[in-house]
Amino acid sequence: KEERNLINAIAERLGRVIQRKRMEKALKKSERRYRLLGEELRVKNLRLKTETDKARQADRLKSQFMANMSHEIRTPLTVIDGAVHLLQRNSLSPEQRELLAMIRDSDEQLLQLINSILDLARIEAGQTKVVKKEFLLKETVKNIISGFEFEARKKDLEIEMTCPRHLPSMISTDEGKLTQILSNLISNALKFTEKGKVEVKLNRESNSSIRFSVEDTGIGIPKENLSLIFNKFYQINGTARREHRGVGLGLTIVKELVDLLGGEMNVKPNLAKGSIFYFSLPCIPSKEKVVPDRNGNGTSPKTRERAKKGVNILVAEDDSPTYNIIRRFLKDCTISRAVDGEDVLKRIKEKSYDMVLMDIQMPRMDGLEATRRIRENDPDLPIVAVTARSFKADKEKCLAAGCNDYIAKPIVPQKLIAKINQYAVKRLSRRQNSPPK
Ligand code: ADP
Repeated sequence: KEERNLINAIAERLGRVIQRKRMEKALKKSERRYRLLGEELRVKNLRLKTETDKARQADRLKSQFMANMSHEIRTPLTVIDGAVHLLQRNSLSPEQRELLAMIRDSDEQLLQLINSILDLARIEAGQTKVVKKEFLLKETVKNIISGFEFEARKKDLEIEMTCPRHLPSMISTDEGKLTQILSNLISNALKFTEKGKVEVKLNRESNSSIRFSVEDTGIGIPKENLSLIFNKFYQINGTARREHRGVGLGLTIVKELVDLLGGEMNVKPNLAKGSIFYFSLPCIPSKEKVVPDRNGNGTSPKTRERAKKGVNILVAEDDSPTYNIIRRFLKDCTISRAVDGEDVLKRIKEKSYDMVLMDIQMPRMDGLEATRRIRENDPDLPIVAVTARSFKADKEKCLAAGCNDYIAKPIVPQKLIAKINQYAVKRLSRRQNSPPK
């Protein structure tokens, strides 16, 4: 019996040893598998990082390409726009007037197209910032609507705003973006409506959310197109739509902007006829009843049409057609030209100017470098950058280099004159009042 017990104990121990050996073997096997898996994961991670880096690089290149393209297109547009402006001042035959209107029309279309592409590129690159501030809701919407009254009257359409009494008077959201969204929707509603009315409705959805809708009694949107309408470059076919120009980016931008403001864009058929575009935005109603000063607050005084006589301006511009347009806009000023940054530095040493209008992209020495060099000795000379790139970062670069301000191409004559009256005139009066040396 004792021997049997001994044999049993040995067998049991042997069994345990065998089991442990088996477990050790299995453990080694899984250790090897995990090591292999870890290695595989490391390689995959590395590949993913390379891919992400590549995508980022491609994205940067895309933004760069957009910026360059915007520059290349805006520069000739400046010339066309300016030349048309100047030609319109002359007495023209009816045919010439008609041809000029055609040029102007196409020019505006092209500018609208480039602006839409840029808008979308900026949103997609995450460069569009939301700037929230308080404003009077109904006033803002009324102002937007009044901008379309002429268009509505031309088509014999009614355009109106409806809103309940209990709507908060002041709200906080991005007023500029809300204006862009509503303007786009109203413009579409007027485009695609021949009879009836366009209504902008405001409603309180909850304590902190307002529902906006733009309703029309127009041609409507076929059911099968409703889900596709916000896609990039999507347009619906049909004779009634063909006569309206567009590139199919408006609603894509609207949807992106509504997203940015924390809402969701929707569309549904209008029960009677037409379409309803609607979205709700989180808008924090303000308790204070601050009435902004309509005359002062942020709005600039009415721009004088003409630049003050006698101001001395150095225009740094390498492109001759653009220079010629600027020169004509500034007939009342004394204008000199510099063709690149080095030329600017040379000229300001030779003569005293009231302002430099500095093109940024120039050969040899660009406008940013020239501005930095000027600032080393002269902190006061007003320098206004002319930038064809409308990206915020580019404008910030101008200010960082030492420019006082910037204007975008295509140059709007009134804006240019406003800048001259703002900056150059101060220097002129100082020059005129200082005793002769
Ligand atoms: P587009 O610049 O071509 O007008 P949008 O993105 O603004 O581009 O609109 C895309 C398409 O949606 C238009 O071509 C038009 O057919 C249709 N659409 C937009 N708004 C309306 C509307 N209020 N009524 C009918 N169709 C509309």
